[in-house]
Amino acid sequence: MPGEKILLVDDDPQILTTLQEFLEGQGYAVATAADSRQALDILNREDELHLALVDLRLPEISGLDLLSQIKSKDPDIEVIMFTGYADIDTVLQAMHQGAYDYLIKQDLRLPDLQAIVARSLEHRRLALRNRELLGEIKEARDELARRRAAELAQIRRIGVALACPLSWEQIVEGLLNLIWESIPLCLLGLGLHGQRENLPLEAYRQRPGVSAENLRTFKSCLHDGLERGSIFPDPGQTAQLQALLPGMLWTKVKAGEVLGLLGAARETPFSPEEAELCRIFTLQGESALRNLVLYDQLRNQAIRDPLTGLFNYRYFWDVLHHEIRMSQRYDTPLSLLFMDIDDFKIINDTLGHPLGDLVLKNLAAYLETVVRQADVICRYGGEEFVMLLPQTPTDQALALAERLRHGISWLAVALPGGEIRFTVSIGVAGLKPGMNGEGLVKASDNALYQAKQTGKNRVCQAD
Ligand code: GH3
Ligand code: MG
Ligand code: MG
Repeated sequence: MPGEKILLVDDDPQILTTLQEFLEGQGYAVATAADSRQALDILNREDELHLALVDLRLPEISGLDLLSQIKSKDPDIEVIMFTGYADIDTVLQAMHQGAYDYLIKQDLRLPDLQAIVARSLEHRRLALRNRELLGEIKEARDELARRRAAELAQIRRIGVALACPLSWEQIVEGLLNLIWESIPLCLLGLGLHGQRENLPLEAYRQRPGVSAENLRTFKSCLHDGLERGSIFPDPGQTAQLQALLPGMLWTKVKAGEVLGLLGAARETPFSPEEAELCRIFTLQGESALRNLVLYDQLRNQAIRDPLTGLFNYRYFWDVLHHEIRMSQRYDTPLSLLFMDIDDFKIINDTLGHPLGDLVLKNLAAYLETVVRQADVICRYGGEEFVMLLPQTPTDQALALAERLRHGISWLAVALPGGEIRFTVSIGVAGLKPGMNGEGLVKASDNALYQAKQTGKNRVCQAD
């Protein structure tokens, strides 16, 4: 290529002049040296030399030595040796030491010289390009390995963070934090929907400086998508957001009957790797949600009565012991209602067992509507129910019991052949100093017995 620099080294001035003129005529920049010392001076002076044409026979420092000095200074300089027939063995040694080719002086024709010079320079260019490409490949491979390691570390982190979640909030917060730390974003949000305690749930992350309008549009995209239960947000709305933040990712999350929608937005589009990373995070989050759904179901099965959905006998005793400890530690009142349906045997015998079940279910549903969040209603057995009322003194418990008794007496259960009314009797007891769980249950049971003995459909208080 024109402009490439060639060093000519020959002790024959005639040859130097002829070749210099010829090569310069070809567009090369040519420097000449009559011996190795001059050649080394030029080598040290010049920034870059592409090719050296070196006579094998030079005074003092031989062509072979000059070759090895050139190569040790810059291995990318191509070297072509000039030689005579007599030195053919030495020139082969030169080839061994890295010379590109040789020319026999006696036969030297300028077109041959032109061809070999062009070829050697092309060889040099290809070798350099090759090395550059190898370097790029190595760099790309290193970068890929670095990225992969970072991704794996993130995936490990998400595995650890979401391995044993205890609540929907923990999963949502954990997943958002991990994505937020791993992918540069303007806005991130996750919402969950489902018939569960503490759901629906939505949480967001926003980069400082995100406009209120963007945030509002983003939130309503996610919120409406969830509300409509269609998983993906309304295309009209997303188009509006896309105009503001062109990079957008919407990923659905599904765990049993719990549905979720994850949204991410920013100014620049997402690379396929980022989208994939986000998908992996979401999948991990999804499996954590599935675990929680499963855990919830199993836990419910263990502590709930299948007919009424109320807490069961076993759970009642666990909570009772816990609440007694709390009451004693914080010196707060605790009351217990023991309720039993009056003459349920007659209802059962007249209507049949399935309709008896229906009465039990209706009563349970009613009880759930009238108590406070902190109160615990359990099906103690058969047609007996207990209600544990933390932080409730006996007089308030009595008032509640009376309200319940009265309300239940007006409760009409719709049956195929009409409707039925029934009554309950309730025993009320308050926790007294030194009393344990068994004592409290016994006291309220005694009070219930008294209510039955004194005519049913009434509330009695323990002594
Ligand atoms: P009392 O007013 O003295 O409480 O009389 P009672 O008839 O309500 O009480 P009793 O203990 O004599 O009868 C309770 C009945 O409740 C007998 C039993 O068959 C019925 N029972 C218990 N568990 C269930 C249930 O899960 N479903 C239905 N349908 N009936 C049940
Ligand atoms: Mg009974
Ligand atoms: Mg009964």
